[in-house]
Amino acid sequence: MSFSALITDKDAAGAVSSQVAVLDDARLPEGNVTVDVEWSGLNYKDGLCLTGAAGLVRTYPHVAGIDFAGTVSASDDPRYRPGQKVILTGWRVGETHWGGYAQKARLNADWLVPLPETMTMRTAMVLGTAGLTAMLAVSRLEAAGLTPAAGEVLVTGASGGAGSVAVMLLARLGYSVAVVSGRPELGEDLKRLGAATVISREDFLAGPDRPMESARWAGAVDAVGGAILGRLIKQVKPGGAVAAFGNAAGIEFTTSVLPFIMRGVSLIGVDSVMQPYAARVAAWARLAEIFDAAAYETLVTEIGLAGLPDAAKQVLAGKVHGRIIVKP
Ligand code: NDP
Repeated sequence: MSFSALITDKDAAGAVSSQVAVLDDARLPEGNVTVDVEWSGLNYKDGLCLTGAAGLVRTYPHVAGIDFAGTVSASDDPRYRPGQKVILTGWRVGETHWGGYAQKARLNADWLVPLPETMTMRTAMVLGTAGLTAMLAVSRLEAAGLTPAAGEVLVTGASGGAGSVAVMLLARLGYSVAVVSGRPELGEDLKRLGAATVISREDFLAGPDRPMESARWAGAVDAVGGAILGRLIKQVKPGGAVAAFGNAAGIEFTTSVLPFIMRGVSLIGVDSVMQPYAARVAAWARLAEIFDAAAYETLVTEIGLAGLPDAAKQVLAGKVHGRIIVKP
Protein backbone atom coordinates (compact mmCIF):
# COMPACT_ATOMS: atom_id res chain seq x y z
CA MET A 1 0.00 0.00 0.00
CA SER A 2 1.20 3.52 -0.74
CA PHE A 3 0.21 7.12 -0.04
CA SER A 4 0.98 10.65 -1.25
CA ALA A 5 2.84 13.01 1.02
CA LEU A 6 4.55 16.39 0.82
CA ILE A 7 8.18 15.57 1.56
CA THR A 8 10.23 18.43 2.95
CA ASP A 9 13.96 17.94 2.55
CA LYS A 10 17.20 19.85 3.04
CA ASP A 11 19.97 19.82 0.43
CA ALA A 12 23.72 19.82 1.02
CA ALA A 13 23.77 23.62 0.87
CA GLY A 14 21.14 23.78 3.61
CA ALA A 15 18.25 24.87 1.35
CA VAL A 16 14.88 23.45 2.41
CA SER A 17 12.24 22.59 -0.22
CA SER A 18 9.15 20.38 -0.49
CA GLN A 19 7.74 18.10 -3.18
CA VAL A 20 4.79 15.75 -3.44
CA ALA A 21 5.91 12.09 -3.55
CA VAL A 22 4.32 8.65 -3.31
CA LEU A 23 5.61 6.59 -0.39
CA ASP A 24 5.22 2.99 0.66
CA ASP A 25 3.27 2.45 3.92
CA ALA A 26 6.49 1.01 5.38
CA ARG A 27 7.80 4.61 5.51
CA LEU A 28 5.16 5.66 8.06
CA PRO A 29 6.73 6.59 11.41
CA GLU A 30 6.28 4.72 14.70
CA GLY A 31 2.95 4.81 16.47
CA ASN A 32 0.03 2.68 17.61
CA VAL A 33 -2.71 4.37 15.55
CA THR A 34 -2.81 4.86 11.76
CA VAL A 35 -5.09 7.56 10.39
CA ASP A 36 -6.35 8.33 6.87
CA VAL A 37 -5.92 12.09 6.84
CA GLU A 38 -9.02 13.87 5.52
CA TRP A 39 -8.03 17.50 6.11
CA SER A 40 -5.00 19.31 7.44
CA GLY A 41 -4.46 23.04 7.99
CA LEU A 42 -1.84 25.72 7.50
CA ASN A 43 -0.65 27.50 10.64
CA TYR A 44 2.14 30.01 11.16
CA LYS A 45 4.27 27.22 12.61
CA ASP A 46 3.71 25.13 9.46
CA GLY A 47 5.20 28.02 7.50
CA LEU A 48 8.29 27.78 9.70
CA CYS A 49 8.54 23.99 9.27
CA LEU A 50 8.05 24.07 5.48
CA THR A 51 10.72 26.74 4.96
CA GLY A 52 13.22 25.45 7.51
CA ALA A 53 12.94 28.71 9.48
CA ALA A 54 13.49 28.70 13.26
CA GLY A 55 15.09 25.23 13.18
CA LEU A 56 11.91 23.47 14.34
CA VAL A 57 12.53 20.46 12.09
CA ARG A 58 15.70 18.60 13.02
CA THR A 59 15.49 15.42 10.90
CA TYR A 60 14.99 15.28 7.12
CA PRO A 61 13.26 14.09 5.00
CA HIS A 62 10.21 15.29 6.91
CA VAL A 63 6.42 15.47 6.57
CA ALA A 64 5.15 18.75 8.07
CA GLY A 65 1.59 19.60 9.12
CA ILE A 66 0.98 20.34 12.82
CA ASP A 67 -2.69 19.39 12.74
CA PHE A 68 -5.12 17.13 10.92
CA ALA A 69 -8.50 15.45 11.12
CA GLY A 70 -9.04 11.97 9.77
CA THR A 71 -10.39 8.47 10.16
CA VAL A 72 -8.61 5.72 12.09
CA SER A 73 -7.66 2.87 9.72
CA ALA A 74 -5.75 0.69 12.22
CA SER A 75 -5.28 0.86 15.97
CA ASP A 76 -3.39 -1.10 18.63
CA ASP A 77 -4.86 1.16 21.31
CA PRO A 78 -8.19 0.23 22.96
CA ARG A 79 -9.35 3.88 22.94
CA TYR A 80 -9.49 4.01 19.12
CA ARG A 81 -11.07 1.68 16.58
CA PRO A 82 -11.03 1.67 12.76
CA GLY A 83 -13.63 4.05 11.36
CA GLN A 84 -13.44 6.46 14.30
CA LYS A 85 -12.95 10.13 13.44
CA VAL A 86 -10.14 11.91 15.26
CA ILE A 87 -8.37 15.25 15.56
CA LEU A 88 -4.65 15.78 16.05
CA THR A 89 -3.08 19.00 17.24
CA GLY A 90 0.18 19.64 19.04
CA TRP A 91 2.66 17.28 20.68
CA ARG A 92 5.24 18.54 18.14
CA VAL A 93 3.68 16.40 15.41
CA GLY A 94 4.70 18.02 12.11
CA GLU A 95 7.92 19.18 13.81
CA THR A 96 9.64 16.16 15.38
CA HIS A 97 7.16 13.48 14.18
CA TRP A 98 5.69 13.24 10.67
CA GLY A 99 2.50 15.29 10.44
CA GLY A 100 -0.64 15.95 8.43
CA TYR A 101 0.66 16.84 4.95
CA ALA A 102 0.12 13.27 3.76
CA GLN A 103 -2.78 10.95 3.01
CA LYS A 104 -1.78 8.79 5.99
CA ALA A 105 -0.32 9.44 9.43
CA ARG A 106 0.85 7.10 12.17
CA LEU A 107 1.25 8.33 15.71
CA ASN A 108 0.80 7.82 19.45
CA ALA A 109 -2.85 7.44 20.52
CA ASP A 110 -2.22 9.79 23.48
CA TRP A 111 -1.93 12.71 21.07
CA LEU A 112 -5.39 12.25 19.50
CA VAL A 113 -8.84 13.38 20.58
CA PRO A 114 -12.15 12.10 19.18
CA LEU A 115 -13.88 14.47 16.75
CA PRO A 116 -16.91 16.04 18.50
CA GLU A 117 -20.08 14.37 17.20
CA THR A 118 -21.59 17.57 15.81
CA MET A 119 -18.41 18.72 14.04
CA THR A 120 -17.23 17.74 10.55
CA MET A 121 -13.58 16.89 9.87
CA ARG A 122 -13.43 19.88 7.55
CA THR A 123 -14.68 22.26 10.25
CA ALA A 124 -12.17 20.75 12.68
CA MET A 125 -9.39 21.88 10.34
CA VAL A 126 -11.00 25.22 9.51
CA LEU A 127 -10.42 25.69 13.24
CA GLY A 128 -7.23 23.64 13.56
CA THR A 129 -4.50 24.57 16.02
CA ALA A 130 -5.40 28.23 15.46
CA GLY A 131 -9.01 27.73 16.57
CA LEU A 132 -8.09 25.51 19.49
CA THR A 133 -5.61 28.13 20.69
CA ALA A 134 -8.17 30.91 20.35
CA MET A 135 -10.65 28.87 22.40
CA LEU A 136 -8.05 28.16 25.10
CA ALA A 137 -7.19 31.87 25.25
CA VAL A 138 -10.83 32.93 25.63
CA SER A 139 -11.43 30.31 28.32
CA ARG A 140 -8.34 31.43 30.23
CA LEU A 141 -9.59 35.04 30.17
CA GLU A 142 -12.97 33.93 31.49
CA ALA A 143 -11.27 31.91 34.23
CA ALA A 144 -9.42 35.12 35.15
CA GLY A 145 -12.80 36.81 35.67
CA LEU A 146 -13.53 38.41 32.28
CA THR A 147 -17.24 38.90 31.55
CA PRO A 148 -18.99 40.81 28.75
CA ALA A 149 -20.07 43.45 31.30
CA ALA A 150 -16.42 44.31 32.03
CA GLY A 151 -16.01 46.16 28.72
CA GLU A 152 -14.25 45.93 25.38
CA VAL A 153 -11.89 43.05 24.57
CA LEU A 154 -9.03 43.61 22.11
CA VAL A 155 -7.81 40.97 19.62
CA THR A 156 -4.49 41.49 17.81
CA GLY A 157 -3.37 39.77 14.59
CA ALA A 158 -7.09 39.67 13.95
CA SER A 159 -7.05 38.78 10.24
CA GLY A 160 -4.95 35.67 10.84
CA GLY A 161 -6.22 32.22 11.77
CA ALA A 162 -6.15 32.34 15.57
CA GLY A 163 -7.09 36.02 15.73
CA SER A 164 -10.10 35.75 13.44
CA VAL A 165 -11.48 32.73 15.31
CA ALA A 166 -10.97 34.57 18.61
CA VAL A 167 -12.99 37.49 17.23
CA MET A 168 -15.88 35.19 16.33
CA LEU A 169 -15.81 33.29 19.62
CA LEU A 170 -15.74 36.44 21.74
CA ALA A 171 -18.53 38.09 19.73
CA ARG A 172 -20.73 35.01 19.97
CA LEU A 173 -20.13 34.91 23.73
CA GLY A 174 -21.50 38.45 23.95
CA TYR A 175 -18.27 40.46 24.22
CA SER A 176 -17.73 43.83 22.56
CA VAL A 177 -14.68 43.14 20.39
CA ALA A 178 -12.10 45.59 19.06
CA VAL A 179 -9.32 44.43 16.77
CA VAL A 180 -5.84 45.54 15.77
CA SER A 181 -4.91 44.55 12.24
CA GLY A 182 -2.08 45.37 9.87
CA ARG A 183 -4.67 45.02 7.10
CA PRO A 184 -7.51 47.35 8.11
CA GLU A 185 -8.80 46.94 4.53
CA LEU A 186 -10.01 43.53 5.74
CA GLY A 187 -12.03 45.26 8.46
CA GLU A 188 -15.38 44.45 6.83
CA ASP A 189 -14.63 40.72 7.14
CA LEU A 190 -13.70 41.20 10.79
CA LYS A 191 -16.93 43.13 11.38
CA ARG A 192 -18.89 40.27 9.80
CA LEU A 193 -17.24 37.96 12.36
CA GLY A 194 -18.41 40.28 15.12
CA ALA A 195 -15.75 42.97 15.59
CA ALA A 196 -17.23 46.34 16.56
CA THR A 197 -14.07 48.44 16.18
CA VAL A 198 -11.12 48.04 13.79
CA ILE A 199 -7.83 49.79 14.65
CA SER A 200 -4.92 49.78 12.20
CA ARG A 201 -1.59 48.50 13.50
CA GLU A 202 -0.08 51.87 12.59
CA ASP A 203 -2.62 53.84 14.64
CA PHE A 204 -2.30 51.43 17.55
CA LEU A 205 1.46 51.96 17.72
CA ALA A 206 1.33 55.72 17.01
CA GLY A 207 1.95 58.29 19.73
CA PRO A 208 4.46 58.32 22.55
CA ASP A 209 5.01 54.99 24.28
CA ARG A 210 4.43 55.84 27.97
CA PRO A 211 4.81 53.51 31.00
CA MET A 212 1.01 53.63 31.44
CA GLU A 213 -1.69 54.67 29.01
CA SER A 214 -5.44 55.28 29.30
CA ALA A 215 -7.10 52.08 30.46
CA ARG A 216 -9.43 50.87 27.72
CA TRP A 217 -9.48 47.06 27.45
CA ALA A 218 -11.20 44.73 29.90
CA GLY A 219 -9.13 41.94 28.37
CA ALA A 220 -7.12 41.06 25.29
CA VAL A 221 -6.20 38.10 23.11
CA ASP A 222 -2.74 38.68 21.65
CA ALA A 223 -1.66 36.65 18.60
CA VAL A 224 1.41 38.69 17.72
CA GLY A 225 3.70 39.52 20.67
CA GLY A 226 6.40 42.15 20.09
CA ALA A 227 5.71 45.88 20.34
CA ILE A 228 1.93 45.40 20.09
CA LEU A 229 1.83 43.20 23.18
CA GLY A 230 4.06 45.62 25.07
CA ARG A 231 1.77 48.48 24.17
CA LEU A 232 -1.55 46.82 24.89
CA ILE A 233 -0.58 45.71 28.41
CA LYS A 234 -0.35 49.40 29.30
CA GLN A 235 -3.94 49.97 28.14
CA VAL A 236 -5.65 47.20 30.14
CA LYS A 237 -8.21 48.22 32.75
CA PRO A 238 -7.65 47.49 36.45
CA GLY A 239 -8.01 43.76 37.12
CA GLY A 240 -8.02 42.91 33.40
CA ALA A 241 -6.02 40.17 31.72
CA VAL A 242 -4.16 39.53 28.47
CA ALA A 243 -3.94 36.02 27.01
CA ALA A 244 -0.82 35.83 24.82
CA PHE A 245 0.14 32.98 22.52
CA GLY A 246 1.77 34.42 19.40
CA ASN A 247 5.06 35.77 18.17
CA ALA A 248 4.30 36.84 14.57
CA ALA A 249 5.51 40.39 15.46
CA GLY A 250 8.48 39.24 17.52
CA ILE A 251 9.48 37.23 20.57
CA GLU A 252 10.48 40.19 22.72
CA PHE A 253 8.40 42.97 24.17
CA THR A 254 8.97 45.89 26.46
CA THR A 255 6.59 47.06 29.13
CA SER A 256 6.91 48.39 32.65
CA VAL A 257 5.80 46.78 35.88
CA LEU A 258 3.30 49.60 36.45
CA PRO A 259 0.27 47.95 34.78
CA PHE A 260 0.88 44.86 36.94
CA ILE A 261 1.48 46.62 40.27
CA MET A 262 -0.85 49.60 39.88
CA ARG A 263 -3.73 48.03 37.93
CA GLY A 264 -3.37 44.39 38.90
CA VAL A 265 -3.23 43.41 35.22
CA SER A 266 -2.51 39.71 34.50
CA LEU A 267 -0.51 38.33 31.60
CA ILE A 268 -1.59 34.78 30.80
CA GLY A 269 0.49 32.56 28.53
CA VAL A 270 -1.38 30.07 26.36
CA ASP A 271 0.26 26.93 24.97
CA SER A 272 -1.84 24.62 22.82
CA VAL A 273 0.90 22.10 22.10
CA MET A 274 1.16 20.23 25.41
CA GLN A 275 -2.45 20.58 26.58
CA PRO A 276 -3.57 17.49 28.47
CA TYR A 277 -6.26 15.29 26.95
CA ALA A 278 -9.15 16.52 29.13
CA ALA A 279 -8.40 20.17 28.37
CA ARG A 280 -8.26 19.49 24.62
CA VAL A 281 -11.53 17.55 24.68
CA ALA A 282 -13.23 20.33 26.67
CA ALA A 283 -11.96 23.02 24.28
CA TRP A 284 -13.13 21.10 21.18
CA ALA A 285 -16.55 20.54 22.78
CA ARG A 286 -16.85 24.26 23.42
CA LEU A 287 -15.76 25.07 19.86
CA ALA A 288 -18.45 22.70 18.57
CA GLU A 289 -21.00 24.75 20.51
CA ILE A 290 -19.81 28.29 19.78
CA PHE A 291 -18.05 28.35 16.39
CA ASP A 292 -20.31 29.18 13.43
CA ALA A 293 -18.68 27.38 10.49
CA ALA A 294 -21.12 28.81 7.91
CA ALA A 295 -20.45 32.40 9.00
CA TYR A 296 -16.67 31.82 8.85
CA GLU A 297 -16.71 30.17 5.40
CA THR A 298 -15.77 33.31 3.41
CA LEU A 299 -12.41 33.24 5.23
CA VAL A 300 -11.59 29.64 4.24
CA THR A 301 -9.28 28.73 1.34
CA GLU A 302 -8.80 25.10 0.26
CA ILE A 303 -5.51 23.90 -1.22
CA GLY A 304 -3.83 20.57 -1.99
CA LEU A 305 -0.36 19.36 -0.98
CA ALA A 306 1.23 20.97 -4.05
CA GLY A 307 -0.04 24.42 -3.01
CA LEU A 308 1.67 24.32 0.38
CA PRO A 309 5.16 25.67 -0.47
CA ASP A 310 3.68 28.95 -1.79
CA ALA A 311 1.13 29.16 1.00
CA ALA A 312 3.94 28.73 3.56
CA LYS A 313 5.65 31.87 2.28
CA GLN A 314 2.35 33.76 2.50
CA VAL A 315 1.69 32.79 6.10
CA LEU A 316 5.20 33.85 7.15
CA ALA A 317 4.72 37.18 5.35
CA GLY A 318 1.52 37.79 7.37
CA LYS A 319 -0.56 37.64 4.17
CA VAL A 320 -2.91 34.78 5.00
CA HIS A 321 -6.47 35.90 5.51
CA GLY A 322 -8.45 33.60 7.79
CA ARG A 323 -7.63 29.91 7.42
CA ILE A 324 -6.07 27.80 4.69
CA ILE A 325 -7.11 24.14 4.86
CA VAL A 326 -5.31 21.33 3.06
CA LYS A 327 -6.86 18.30 1.31
CA PRO A 328 -4.07 15.75 0.96
P1 NDP B 1 -1.50 33.71 11.02
O1 NDP B 1 -0.32 33.99 10.18
O2 NDP B 1 -2.73 33.17 10.42
O3 NDP B 1 -1.90 35.05 11.78
C1 NDP B 1 -0.95 35.93 12.31
C2 NDP B 1 -1.47 37.35 12.13
O4 NDP B 1 -0.62 38.23 12.87
C3 NDP B 1 -1.40 37.84 10.71
O5 NDP B 1 -2.51 37.47 9.95
C4 NDP B 1 -1.34 39.35 10.91
O6 NDP B 1 -2.67 39.79 11.20
C5 NDP B 1 -0.53 39.47 12.20
N1 NDP B 1 0.89 39.73 11.91
C6 NDP B 1 1.69 39.06 11.06
N2 NDP B 1 2.92 39.60 11.03
C7 NDP B 1 2.89 40.62 11.89
C8 NDP B 1 3.85 41.59 12.29
N3 NDP B 1 5.09 41.58 11.81
N4 NDP B 1 3.48 42.53 13.20
C9 NDP B 1 2.24 42.52 13.72
N5 NDP B 1 1.27 41.64 13.36
C10 NDP B 1 1.60 40.71 12.46
O7 NDP B 1 -0.98 32.78 12.21
P2 NDP B 1 -1.82 31.91 13.27
O8 NDP B 1 -3.12 32.55 13.52
O9 NDP B 1 -1.70 30.50 12.87
O10 NDP B 1 -0.90 32.11 14.56
C11 NDP B 1 -0.79 33.39 15.19
C12 NDP B 1 0.39 33.37 16.14
O11 NDP B 1 0.11 32.49 17.22
C13 NDP B 1 1.70 32.87 15.53
O12 NDP B 1 2.77 33.62 16.07
C14 NDP B 1 1.76 31.42 15.96
O13 NDP B 1 3.07 30.94 16.01
C15 NDP B 1 1.13 31.52 17.34
N6 NDP B 1 0.50 30.29 17.79
C16 NDP B 1 0.84 29.83 19.03
C17 NDP B 1 0.24 28.73 19.55
C18 NDP B 1 0.57 28.29 20.93
O14 NDP B 1 0.21 27.18 21.31
N7 NDP B 1 1.22 29.11 21.72
C19 NDP B 1 -0.72 27.94 18.76
C20 NDP B 1 -1.11 28.56 17.51
C21 NDP B 1 -0.48 29.70 17.05
P3 NDP B 1 -3.16 41.27 10.79
O15 NDP B 1 -2.81 41.44 9.34
O16 NDP B 1 -4.61 41.27 11.08
O17 NDP B 1 -2.39 42.22 11.67
